[in-house]
Amino acid sequence: DPQLNANYTLDAFIEGDCNRVARRAGKTVAEKPGANSFNPLVIYGNVGLGKTHLAQSIGNEVKRLHPNKVVLYVSSEKFINQFIDHSRNQAINDFIHFYQMIDVLIIDDVQFFNKAEKSQDAFFSIFNHLHQSGKQLVLTSDKAPKDLEGVQERLLSRFRWGLSADIQVPDYETRIEILERKMKNDGLEMPPEVVKYIAYNINNNVRELEGALISLLAQSSLNRKEIDLELAKKVLRNFVKSSSKEITIDTIQKMVCDYFEVPYEKLLQKTRKREIVQARQITMYLAKAFTKNSLKSIGEHFGGRDHTTVIHSCQTVKDLMDTDSGFRENVLELQQKVQLAAL
Ligand code: ADP
Ligand code: MG
Repeated sequence: DPQLNANYTLDAFIEGDCNRVARRAGKTVAEKPGANSFNPLVIYGNVGLGKTHLAQSIGNEVKRLHPNKVVLYVSSEKFINQFIDHSRNQAINDFIHFYQMIDVLIIDDVQFFNKAEKSQDAFFSIFNHLHQSGKQLVLTSDKAPKDLEGVQERLLSRFRWGLSADIQVPDYETRIEILERKMKNDGLEMPPEVVKYIAYNINNNVRELEGALISLLAQSSLNRKEIDLELAKKVLRNFVKSSSKEITIDTIQKMVCDYFEVPYEKLLQKTRKREIVQARQITMYLAKAFTKNSLKSIGEHFGGRDHTTVIHSCQTVKDLMDTDSGFRENVLELQQKVQLAAL
């Protein structure tokens, strides 16, 4: 099937918090096309986050599970061009009939319907026919349906009949997983600190992650050199925004709060809950190790605490690291995150 890229499978689409709803809905749609409550399924999100991959996976999965179903994947630009060709040849009815024969219609990037009024009219009748006949529609867009400009309200209201699921930027752990999967596919090996460096620093979208891998691969084969952190930093200069940043207490506080899922305000208050106290102590410990702030100024960043509190906290963390291996792992992992952020 020339329209579907066989590499875009559900299996190759790594699931994370960023795309879980969309991916699971896509799986349901592929299992029971037309016979589910996600009709249409609208997948939306910024560029490079996997909309096309996921949309095509649904097509591939339908073909695998239901070989007799007619699946069509088409970009909205192609749909519009086809429509224009047919209208020049007075063949709009043929065009509409062709689309009405489809069991699973996947239209990518519907934002490009913007202002293509006649194409939208054709799509409106196709949509209605397919939906009424229990056929499946899958659409992708770079914006939520409510924010799509230049698309007719009657279409937008139909987009809301099913499920709109967004795809967000993958978090650090998911980026690691995506990198590891791509490396495995490409037979590429890199030390863990390089993978972490890439995942930490390239955090806009998945396409950039792939771009980084390709550049690294090219450089390493060009120089017949293993990919180490030094090479990675050199090659990825253009990808990574500002290098060798000064780490601030603020940054560390945010990282620790993210890590332990502790609200930021709690760190500054007098709360004596054990997990908060520990998060606070670890933050002070890391602030002392990674910033140039004095003990006094560190204390001030925690709701005006005394410098002796900071000394005590640092000592407690050191002691606990010696006796509690789980605690130690947490601190080391955080330490690594701070170090990576400082590169
Ligand atoms: P979009 O259509 O949203 O611009 P793409 O579907 O073209 O994004 O994705 C860009 C690249 O990133 C593709 O090569 C795709 O395979 C990859 N990609 C995106 N999300 C994931 C994911 N969750 N797991 C694996 N690869 C992904
Ligand atoms: Mg796309």
